Amino acid sequence: MATALENIEEKKGLNFIEEAIAADIEAGKVKNSPTQVVHTRFPPEPNGYLHIGHAKAICMDFGAARKFGGKCNLRFDDTNPSKEDTEYVDAIQEDIHWLGFDWEDRKYYASDYFQQLWDLAEEMIKRGLAYVDELSAEEIAAQKGTPTTPGQESPYRNRPVEESLDLFRRMNKGEFAEGTKTLRAKIDMANPNMHFRDPIMYRIIDHPHHRTGTKWHAYPMYDFAHGQSDFFEGITHSICTLEFEVHRPLYNYFAKVLADIKGTTYVPRQIEFNRLNMTYTMMSKRKLLACVKEGLVRGWDDPRMPTLCGLRRRGYTSDSIHSFIDTIGYTKYDGMISIKLLEHAVREDLNKHALRVMGVVDPVKLTITNYPEGKVEMMEMENNPEEPEAGTHKMPFSRELYIEREDFQEVAEKKFFRLTIDKEVRLKSAYIIKCTGVVKDENGTITEILCTYDPDSKSGMPGADRKVKGTLHWVSRKEAVPVEVRLYDNLFTVEDPSADERDFRELLNPQSEVVLPCAYLEPWAAEQARKRVGASHISTENRYYQFQRIGYFCVDYDTTEDHIVFNRTVLLRDSK
Ligand code: ATP
Ligand code: MG
Repeated sequence: MATALENIEEKKGLNFIEEAIAADIEAGKVKNSPTQVVHTRFPPEPNGYLHIGHAKAICMDFGAARKFGGKCNLRFDDTNPSKEDTEYVDAIQEDIHWLGFDWEDRKYYASDYFQQLWDLAEEMIKRGLAYVDELSAEEIAAQKGTPTTPGQESPYRNRPVEESLDLFRRMNKGEFAEGTKTLRAKIDMANPNMHFRDPIMYRIIDHPHHRTGTKWHAYPMYDFAHGQSDFFEGITHSICTLEFEVHRPLYNYFAKVLADIKGTTYVPRQIEFNRLNMTYTMMSKRKLLACVKEGLVRGWDDPRMPTLCGLRRRGYTSDSIHSFIDTIGYTKYDGMISIKLLEHAVREDLNKHALRVMGVVDPVKLTITNYPEGKVEMMEMENNPEEPEAGTHKMPFSRELYIEREDFQEVAEKKFFRLTIDKEVRLKSAYIIKCTGVVKDENGTITEILCTYDPDSKSGMPGADRKVKGTLHWVSRKEAVPVEVRLYDNLFTVEDPSADERDFRELLNPQSEVVLPCAYLEPWAAEQARKRVGASHISTENRYYQFQRIGYFCVDYDTTEDHIVFNRTVLLRDSK
């Protein structure tokens, strides 16, 4: 039988966690586990949507399993009944699939283990390893001591086993109010590791659970649920973020107790990596939820949100998320990643796949006075120069066009190589034009730019490749289709909103979404975009475009047959 290690083509290129896994395989530890293969899990709490930080964890958990020919479970960590919702459960699954991973038939809920956990807790009481305490949370905290001074033992610590067992059972019958009783592990109130000072295993919560209803009134704490669930599932490597490093000794302690009770030497191993923090955004689910609830954004999938569904709506591809995660890697120290790295990743990916089209987001009319009225020429456009097999499409050219307002200056600044009076520019894939004058309204705003064209300069014609400094994008006024364009920028004005003293609401960037209700798009592109009406959010067909010279855009879900909406994913180049 092939060993898991033989599935790795080459061992170099492994990150430090994968190296640790490889070492465990070699040491025979994986063989000693229930499924005998590398077995990981991704354990989201269904209390919000997944964000880009979760993608980093998903790529690690599912990625390592894939690399070593193992398995990765999806486990909803639903041990706190008051914050969870099935809406989140569904969204989480959609997002993991979008990233290209699958848990096959291994979708679990921590709540599936409530009975096993309960039995284990009773067994620990019977073995003198746990007791029911009646101190309040404040009293427990006050007696905890400090890292350098030992804590005090609870007066209930040495109560008889039978008494603890009776009280524990009654805790679950709803006989006691929240906060009046807890089950604590009897370990060591003087241990230098504060987590060993008789940690709470169960507390009373009087709130129906989204899966188990009112069956339970006492619920396990994270520390008494996570590692145990790992054990029940035969997880070999429980990979998590650095804040759990200090919990690891307790994780190992509980795992050993469980292994002893079950009479096995198998135990899961916890390994930690640095959490992803990114500039100009935040990952706190609580604050992201507040943004949604308070209507500060369009919803969990607002294109400014760091959520996976938000990034998807913004126009991020699954591949671009993967390439970003590969770039940032996994380490043992926390830091802050520039959002520009994420933008770079999507730009690289869209450059390969986006259809090139012309769209004018801030239009001004341009009239070519020597071009025949009523004449329409069809100009040939490449769909994607990076992908010649993507073909070409046709775009109408006529006497009246729209160009970008910022591509014209009546009095040109130094180094302005776009259109100005008496100067020539090329209209991309069409003719060279020369500006002869402008028409203004009573406020002095330019309403029309007048030009002449050189009939011998048509792109692609022999001898027409006369060099001029600037090239502009344009659309034909009559045929162009009005579309709504939403320009997106960072959600926050400061690099690290989580570290700021001010409330995050004060730090929102008022320019993070700018809606342009009337941009113009070439007809072929509008036709492509309309094919998206009714398409699933996950499908990628006809979704991604490069508006030439402006940026990458994608068709928004709000698009209907008569109202097309585009989101700007990212500018063509990093402009800031
Ligand atoms: P909560 O405060 O609700 O616990 P959480 O961000 O830890 O929030 P979980 O749903 O518990 O959310 O996270 C699931 C998994 O994703 C965990 O293993 C967690 O370590 C990992 N994870 C969460 N946030 C990040 C992040 N920013 N970077 C990397 N991994 C993360
Ligand atoms: Mg968590």
